[in-house]
Amino acid sequence: MSTATIESRSPQDQSEVVVTAPASDRAAVAAAVARARAAQREWSRSALARADALTAAAAAVDAAKDQIVDLMIREVGKPLTESVGEHARSVRILRYQSQSALDPDGDTYPAAPPSDLRTLLLSRRRPRGVAGLITPWNFPFAIPLWKAAPALAYGNAVVLKPSSDALASALLLEEILNRHLPEGVFTVVPGGGETGQAIIEQADVVSFTGSTAVGLQVAAAATARGIASQAEMGGLNASIVLPDADVEAAAKVIAGAAMGYAGQKCTATGRVIVVGDAAPITDALAAAVEGLPLGDPAAADTVVGPVINPPARDEVLDAARAVATDGGRIVTGGTAIDGPGLFVTPTVVDGQSPDARLAQDEVFGPIVTVLRAETAEQAVQISNGVPFGLVTSVFTRDVDSALTVVDGLESGMIRVNMPTSGVDFHAPFGGEKQSSFGPREQGKAARELYTSTHTITIGPLGA
Ligand code: NAD
Repeated sequence: MSTATIESRSPQDQSEVVVTAPASDRAAVAAAVARARAAQREWSRSALARADALTAAAAAVDAAKDQIVDLMIREVGKPLTESVGEHARSVRILRYQSQSALDPDGDTYPAAPPSDLRTLLLSRRRPRGVAGLITPWNFPFAIPLWKAAPALAYGNAVVLKPSSDALASALLLEEILNRHLPEGVFTVVPGGGETGQAIIEQADVVSFTGSTAVGLQVAAAATARGIASQAEMGGLNASIVLPDADVEAAAKVIAGAAMGYAGQKCTATGRVIVVGDAAPITDALAAAVEGLPLGDPAAADTVVGPVINPPARDEVLDAARAVATDGGRIVTGGTAIDGPGLFVTPTVVDGQSPDARLAQDEVFGPIVTVLRAETAEQAVQISNGVPFGLVTSVFTRDVDSALTVVDGLESGMIRVNMPTSGVDFHAPFGGEKQSSFGPREQGKAARELYTSTHTITIGPLGA
């Protein structure tokens, strides 16, 4: 065990330490991986036992609702309604993936002559072994679970390294799941980047979610070892507003997608691209943003809570300060709120060009920039003109216009008249370009990462 200590503090009050734990060094990770590898052999033997254990785990997570929701609010400042939603999604992910254990585990193929019909040619899915999961802080239960649940269902063991800012949540999850899983099958190793690297060096498959800078390193390190990996990374998601859109309705939806949970979702809206006259939507957006309840995330109506840590707050404030130098103006927001919590007023920026920093780099907080386009085609070009491609939304009343825009977008996920934020746990999730590396997550798509295949030919002897 290393001497380094991991500490998670509440964003509502930085003097409140939620949990501390020693960081797991290389040897501690090796011990966790060895335990996982030993437990995985037995775990992989019975699909029925896995389905039963994960079903029981889902019920346990369901029953722990109050504890989970309270901790999420305290540890990461997620507003109550969203914390309740994340808890419900976590239960559904576990219920859904528990049944994946019983999915067909292969295919059969016609065999070559001469004994085509008597020869059995088949491919059979098998677990990869120990899945190393590295997760961010912003969905402290749902993201670890949408990786761990399919990994476990398909017969892998899991070693999870959560973000230090969400350590208490991960430890609670470990405690709940382990009431129903065999020892060693699911282990949390606290730590920072070095612990993450130790996992990549020792696991059989790696799934990462976090920033693009780290994700690209993770994918490169896993690839250098020849193991499968997946990295879900940053986004700079656009909402395109066409001239026929319902301005008031679109502004309300975009305000929520940009500022809900203080904009700290990979699917948050960071750019609004307006085709034609931008003034009405900019004004409506500013009004909608100013109307969002900001404050204590435990309050029932709060939409905008604190940002996660002091560097995150500085990043938003620095971006707001830089707006004037990029030819833009702050329409609303851009200030810190005094007090023990890390609150920033939701910020709408106008007048920047698509190559301004704020329109090119992800700022993980409550800030959005409104850009102008002459035509729908130009809006698509601007939307695509960033290194990311996670999700884009389009606002229009015309289905032909929607389909034309959809066709041109370089995004993994596209939503029409809907917020960029929002995740369906049973549909494929992932992006293009530097937003994602490797196969998609969630639903049946998760099988691609967490299984490999044996191709088996069984012939009649001597044929
Ligand atoms: P981060 O990249 O700082 O950290 C993510 C995880 O990687 C943490 O567990 C961290 O400890 C670990 N890590 C850091 N350095 C590492 C290294 N060198 N090797 C291995 N692991 C290392 O991200 P964050 O601040 O926790 O989360 C915010 C980011 O996550 C944003 O960029 C957001 O867009 C992204 N995100 C993406 C998705 C998605 O599905 N695409 C979902 C949520 C968040």
